[in-house]
Amino acid sequence: MKYCRFVAEEGAKFGLVTERDGDQWITGILPFPWSLESEAVECPARLLKDVKLLIPVAPSKIVCVGRNYRDHARELGNEVPAEPLLFFKPLSSLLASGDPIELPAISDRVDFEGELAVVISRPARNLVAGDDLGGYIHGYTLANDVTARDLQKKDGQWTRAKGFDTFCPVGPIVNTSLPVKGGLTIQTHVNGQLRQDGTTNDLIFSLAALLEYITKFMTLEPGDLLLTGTPAGVGPLSVGDRVEVSVAGLGVLSNPVIAERR
Ligand code: MG
Repeated sequence: MKYCRFVAEEGAKFGLVTERDGDQWITGILPFPWSLESEAVECPARLLKDVKLLIPVAPSKIVCVGRNYRDHARELGNEVPAEPLLFFKPLSSLLASGDPIELPAISDRVDFEGELAVVISRPARNLVAGDDLGGYIHGYTLANDVTARDLQKKDGQWTRAKGFDTFCPVGPIVNTSLPVKGGLTIQTHVNGQLRQDGTTNDLIFSLAALLEYITKFMTLEPGDLLLTGTPAGVGPLSVGDRVEVSVAGLGVLSNPVIAERR
C-alpha cells in the first residue's frame, strides 16, 4: 500500500495513493488512527502533484548513517568505515515534499544527499540481521539528508551541519510493500539534471545489518526513520534550484531551494 498525508478541504488527511498512467493519484482517504488492514474511503481522484503534501511520518527520532556507499565515502576523501557511522537529525529539520529548503546565511556550501529511508513499525531492540526483520519495517520513503558541508568539516561533529530547520525533506509517500531485495535505483536530479545515480545494492551495511547495529544499544520506536546513506554525486545547492530524489515505487521527493527566511 502507498499513502501520503495531505491537506484536504477538511484538514490534514492520510490519502491512499494509486499509480495510474504513470502518475500518482490520491484515490481514497484512510481513517486515523489506522492500521495496514484499514479500508480507505473512496474519494474523488486527485493528482498527488497537485495537492499540498505534509510530512507522511511521525518519528520519535531520525537515525542516519554516514558514508554507507563506498563511492560516496571516497568522493569526500573519507575511509570506508569499519562500523556504521551514526548520527541524528532533529525532528525540527523535517520538511514535506514541495516545501522549500532554506540555505542558512552562515554556510557557504549546502549539499543535497538523496537517501532511502526506512519507517519502523514496532518497538525494535536487539534485532538479529539473519532473522526475518520484515515485521519491524512498516515501509519506505525518500529523504534528503541536506548538509552544510563547510560546517560539518569545521565543527568536527555533525549536529549543526545536519540539523538546520528544513534540512530533512521526507516523502512524498510511504510505500508499505516496496520490494527492496533485488536492489533499488536511487537518483537525485537538480534542476532536471541527473546528479546521483546509485543502487542500494552498493550499501556497505545492509538494512538488516544497520537494524542489528542500532538496536543493540537503542530502541527504535514505531514511526522512527532510518536514513540509510547517500550514493556518490553529492553537490551544492543554490537559491532557485529544485532538488528531486526518486526511487521507482516511492515517487519523487521534490523541494525548491530558497535563501534563509528571517
Ligand atoms: Mg547522508
